[in-house]
Amino acid sequence: MKLGELTWAEVEELEKDKIVVLPFGSFEQHGRHLPLLTDTMIVTAIAERVEAAHPETVLLLPTLWLGYSPHHIGFPGTLTAAPNTYIDLLCQILEPMIELGFRKILVLNGHGGNECPLRMAFREVKHRLKSPEGLWLAAMSDWSAAPEMLHACEYETSLMLHLHPDLVQMDEAEAKLKPFHSEFYSFDFHRPDIVTVDYSFKEITKTGALGHPEQASAEMGETLLQKMVEETCRFVEEFLTW
Ligand SMILES: [Zn+2]
Repeated sequence: MKLGELTWAEVEELEKDKIVVLPFGSFEQHGRHLPLLTDTMIVTAIAERVEAAHPETVLLLPTLWLGYSPHHIGFPGTLTAAPNTYIDLLCQILEPMIELGFRKILVLNGHGGNECPLRMAFREVKHRLKSPEGLWLAAMSDWSAAPEMLHACEYETSLMLHLHPDLVQMDEAEAKLKPFHSEFYSFDFHRPDIVTVDYSFKEITKTGALGHPEQASAEMGETLLQKMVEETCRFVEEFLTW
C-alpha cells in the first residue's frame, strides 16, 4: 500500500510489521539523450511494481527526487542536495516512521551518488535514536540485478525506451568517453580500483553518458526491468523474515 493514500487514522491502525519502502532517485544530467529525472523515473517504476506485488507487506513512500549529484553539476539542469541537507532529510523522513513503530526500512536507491550519504544517514539515524531494538535499515540499489549498468548507458537507455519512449532522443545517444588508461584506476565502475579518485562527469565524458547508449532497445529494457523488480521482490521476501 501507499502511505500517501492513507489517512492518519488508518496509519494509526496499521500493523507495524510492514516494510517501509522509500525510493530515492536524482535530478541530474543523463547524456544528451535522456531526461534529468531518469533515475527517479526508473526507481519509481520498480518501487510501484514491487508494491503491487506485495500490497499487504510493503508500505510505499513517494520517491525522493533530489539526490546527491555534485559530480554531474557541470552539465546544465542538474540539481543536488548538499551532504548535510541530504542526511538531515533522510533522517527527518525515517525517524518518524521508526517512532511510529516500523522496524524494517528499505531505501530503494536509483542513483550511484546516493550510496555514500545513504550509509552516513543510516548510521546517523541509528545513533540519534539510540539503535532501537529490532531495527533494520537496508538500502538496495536498483542496478544490483544489473551489475553491468553504467550512467546513461545502453541499459539505462533501454529502461527508459521501455518506460518513457517519448522522452528518449536516440539520435543523440552517444557516450564520447575521454581516453584514459591506468593500471590502478578505471572509469569503468565494474573494474575494482586500486586507488580511489574523485572526478566529475564533465572530466570523463563529453556528452555526460557512459557505455554504449546507441545499442539500447525497448525489449532489453523490458527484460531488465522485470529482472530488477524480481530481485527487489526476492529481497523484500527475505527481509520480512529478518
Ligand atoms: Zn541514472
